[in-house]
Amino acid sequence: MIVNTCGFIDAAVEESLGAIGEALAGNGKVVVTGCLGVKQDLIKKNHPSVLAITGPHDTPAVMKAVHAHLPKPHDPYTDLIGVKLTPPHYAYLKIAEGCNHRCSFCIIPSMRGDLVSRPIGEVMQEAENLVKAGVKELLVISQDTSAYGVDIKYRTGFWRGRPVKTRMTQLCESLGELGVWVRLHYVYPYPHVDDVIPLMAEGRILPYLDVPFQHATPRILKLMRRPASAEKVLQRLEEWRRICPELTVRSTFIVGFPGETEAEFSELLRFLGEAQLDRVGCFAYSPVDGAAANELPDAVAEEVKAFRKERFMLTQAKISASKLQRKVGRTLRVLVDAPGVGRSSADAPEIDGVVRFKGGKAGEFRDVTVDRAGEHDLYGRLQ
Ligand code: SF4
Repeated sequence: MIVNTCGFIDAAVEESLGAIGEALAGNGKVVVTGCLGVKQDLIKKNHPSVLAITGPHDTPAVMKAVHAHLPKPHDPYTDLIGVKLTPPHYAYLKIAEGCNHRCSFCIIPSMRGDLVSRPIGEVMQEAENLVKAGVKELLVISQDTSAYGVDIKYRTGFWRGRPVKTRMTQLCESLGELGVWVRLHYVYPYPHVDDVIPLMAEGRILPYLDVPFQHATPRILKLMRRPASAEKVLQRLEEWRRICPELTVRSTFIVGFPGETEAEFSELLRFLGEAQLDRVGCFAYSPVDGAAANELPDAVAEEVKAFRKERFMLTQAKISASKLQRKVGRTLRVLVDAPGVGRSSADAPEIDGVVRFKGGKAGEFRDVTVDRAGEHDLYGRLQ
């Protein structure tokens, strides 16, 4: 525990010494910082077991003390990946860790535990700092963005001196005030997702939803332990597009899940045809050590999985291409990633396509008139 102290007046000294005592009794591991830190002898005399004492505004010394006494736990999954650096004009904003679902193909909950949401005040402060540092696009991520706040009963926090609930809709409203692009990822299709579509229609956040549907047949969804039914999804897509015609929907699917029959796979292809999703990723099912789905009978043969994946991608490629074709002749706002390459509201970095043109500077917003569409990318001219 870090105790921030004040040592200007006697009453404050007494109060600070009392706070250190309370922290020691409650936690046992205490680093003292702040103004009273300059009176090391007094602190040591009263509380000899504090771990470290630093002076005011000495964040590096506080962090050094914290790391010395609380080494970062080894995480075999992330320690090997290293730190991912994004260009200065966009940034990932992590709002929660862990997940309350138990999808049968996934081991994330067993690795990271149940959902733990970051307090909204802290998330908003980080977002505001990023924007002040020059970030033009915030990518909201977590394992389950639409569940944000459920673990802390949507607790009210504070941002800019006013109360804000720890809840996806209020987070989106607040982020929408920052004047930058806000893009939502990993949105589980709960009913309250409907509430953020009007914010997209009003231009407060980007009209982009990354919703992992995973499959479309009730039996496979049940085996996957996912909610939602295909008809409801289709109805909701229709309604979302009615409210926000500019909406881009990205999704991911798994083909060749244990027990998936040819008829069920064909139903999935039919769903794709009806849903007309803009961007789609597809994975052939592969067992992960420790996943419940490994116990399911009727594994699909590897060559069948590969063939289904190919058919799935061919079906979707035609849909994506025809959707991109409809953008020819339109002028789109893009965020330039590098000279000649940018992204429109429909394109998340690294996973979607791009818009290509001549010129532009990284980090600026420009308008591009689209002359031609490829299978994934658009080509046009800067205005
Ligand atoms: S697939 Fe996503 S929603 Fe399902 S358990 Fe894993 S992290 Fe949670």
